[in-house]
Amino acid sequence: MADPQKLRERPPFPAFFALTVGLLAETSGCVSAPSPLTPHASGSVGVPHAGVQTDAVELKKGRSFLRFRPHSRNYWGRPGLVRALQEATAAVDKSIPGGKPLLIGDLSARYGGKIRGHHSHRTGRDVDLLWYVTTPSGVPQNNPGFIRIGSDGFARVQETGEFLRIDVERQWLLVRELMLSPHIRVQWMFCSRDVEAVLIEYARARGEPDQLVWHAESVLLQPGDSLPHDDHIHLRIACSQDESVRGCAGGGPYWPWLPELPRLGALDDSLLTEIATDDPLDTVMDESPNPSVTRGAVSRAQPPAEG
Ligand SMILES: [Zn+2]
Repeated sequence: MADPQKLRERPPFPAFFALTVGLLAETSGCVSAPSPLTPHASGSVGVPHAGVQTDAVELKKGRSFLRFRPHSRNYWGRPGLVRALQEATAAVDKSIPGGKPLLIGDLSARYGGKIRGHHSHRTGRDVDLLWYVTTPSGVPQNNPGFIRIGSDGFARVQETGEFLRIDVERQWLLVRELMLSPHIRVQWMFCSRDVEAVLIEYARARGEPDQLVWHAESVLLQPGDSLPHDDHIHLRIACSQDESVRGCAGGGPYWPWLPELPRLGALDDSLLTEIATDDPLDTVMDESPNPSVTRGAVSRAQPPAEG
C-alpha cells in the first residue's frame, strides 16, 4: 500500500504519469504495439499470441526448403529466425545430400497480428516446420503436407493410402542445427510426445552430448492446450537481449543456458520520485559551453529578432 504522505509529495501530472507509464511498460512487458507512449517498441513487440512486429524479413524461396503456401503473405519473421531456417536446412542438405527440401509452414504477417488458423504466430517468433519423410524403405520423399506421424514413426497419407516414415536422421539434424544456431534462441519446439521420443532416442544412439540432448528434451514439448503437433514442429524463438528491452515478451521460459537478459535495477518509490523531479534545465545550464547561458536566460528565452 502506498504511503499517502509520499503520494502527496509526488510531482504533479503529467510528469509523474508519463514516467509511470513508461516504466510500467518497460518493466511489465505489457506492451503489445508500438505507440506514442512506447516509442522505443520495435522488432518483435508483445507476446506471441497478442503482439505485432516491425522490421520483419521475408523467408523467400530457397534451395533447401520450400514454402508450404508459396504465395502466402505470412512468411515474415525476425531476421535471425529467417537466417537460422536458411542455414539449418542448408546444413542438413550438406550433411546428408540427396534429400528433399524441408516444407515450411506459416511464420507471421509482415507487421504481425492475428493470422488465419493460428492463435500465436503474431510477433515473428513462430514458424511451423513439416517433417522430413522417406518411403518405408528409406528413399527421401517430398512431404505431401501435414501428415500425422504415429508412435512407430510412420504416417499414412490419406489421399493415397501409402505410408511414409519420418526421416529421423535429417529431422534430428534440423533440431540440432536450430538449437545450436547463433542467430536464435530456441524457446519451444512443440511436437507430439511420440515424435519427441523418436528424436531423443536417435540422438542418444548417435552419441550426441548429454547437454545438447537435455536441452532438446527441454524444448521439445507436446502442448497441453492445442493439437498434439504430430504433423509438424512448431518452433518458437525467445526474445533476444536487444528485443527484450524493446517490447518483446513471454511465450515460454527463458532457459538457463541462454545468454542472460539485461535486467533493470530495483526501482523504489524514492528513486521514482527523484527521477520525476529531476530538472532538465539544470542539465542545460551545466552542459552549456557558454557561461552567459544561465538558468534564467534559458527559461525566459525569446525567439530571435527578425531580420
Ligand atoms: Zn504453429
